[in-house]
Amino acid sequence: MKLRQVPLQCVSLVASIGMAVAAPSVEQLQKVAEAAHAKFKDLDEGKNADYIPALAEVPSELFGIAIVTNNGDVIKVGDTDAVYSIQSCSKVFTMCLVMNESGANSVLTKINVEPTGEAFNSVRAIEEGDGRADNPFVNAGAIATVSMIKAKDAEERWQKIIDTYEAFAGSKLTVLPDIYKSEAETNFRNRGIAHILYNSGNLFCDPLEATEVYTKQCSVGVNTEQLAVMGGTLANGGVNPVTKKRCLPEEMVPQVLAVMTMNGFYDGSGQWAWKAGLPAKTGVGGGIVAVVPGEMAIVGFSPPLDEYGNSIRAQKAIEYISQELGVSIFED
Ligand code: GLU
Repeated sequence: MKLRQVPLQCVSLVASIGMAVAAPSVEQLQKVAEAAHAKFKDLDEGKNADYIPALAEVPSELFGIAIVTNNGDVIKVGDTDAVYSIQSCSKVFTMCLVMNESGANSVLTKINVEPTGEAFNSVRAIEEGDGRADNPFVNAGAIATVSMIKAKDAEERWQKIIDTYEAFAGSKLTVLPDIYKSEAETNFRNRGIAHILYNSGNLFCDPLEATEVYTKQCSVGVNTEQLAVMGGTLANGGVNPVTKKRCLPEEMVPQVLAVMTMNGFYDGSGQWAWKAGLPAKTGVGGGIVAVVPGEMAIVGFSPPLDEYGNSIRAQKAIEYISQELGVSIFED
């Protein structure tokens, strides 16, 4: 048994000499989350995404942190009841749906899993590669992922997506109408990306249908606890830690985490691996979901973003918590 597979109920933090040490208690996790919140709540850097007009209207001061452990314990600090659009954090869970339906290899062969080193909505990355969308977490790859869902029409495609997200979250979720309307009225670039992929045989349904359903998935509202349960399901080997329902075969989880590690922060992924060392996915709504495999998910939410489109307060908070707990996947 690998040391990191020692279950959380018994041990969590493992000393470098190979001796197991006690898992952090709920009280300890609460304390570290509170410290992270206090440290970064007044940090006044970055700005809300505004290329989707409705995102610019979300109050910039909102800041929440939630941790969900594999035991199903929930730790919350700050604005954890605020509901925001899941945006690109959704891409992880649509990929899981396609892996479930068509096998993990389908994503590798039809989309690929390589970082682009380019912005999330890059067209150049598609043109410079072999025509495939590069990875499921850039917009091109996420729209291609939606197109891979086995469905006869947009409605069935959408229903499969929302059913998957609700299973991962263990609760009912709905689309935020203002965000959806705003994004659907302005998503010309994504429609262009879908057509480029379709033209080269790398998009697998009608391009406008794929873009519309993708836009809807990005507009799903979550609070920080719900997103943490979604991430917690990956931390817990594919089983929702609260409802105990299996959402993904255990053997696919490492592949999902690999894609998160390589591509979760777009062209900021290398720096994130360096600082926090956790598989994670960001969204331009301000959410970031990070996974400590076998132990917990850590989620931060705050709207102001850095130049790569990643929430500044959320990433600083998760980095801090990861370092305090010593849970980087690159540490032994
Ligand atoms: N819906 C956003 C878009 O397509 C998602 C981008 C993100 O969250 O990174 O532009």
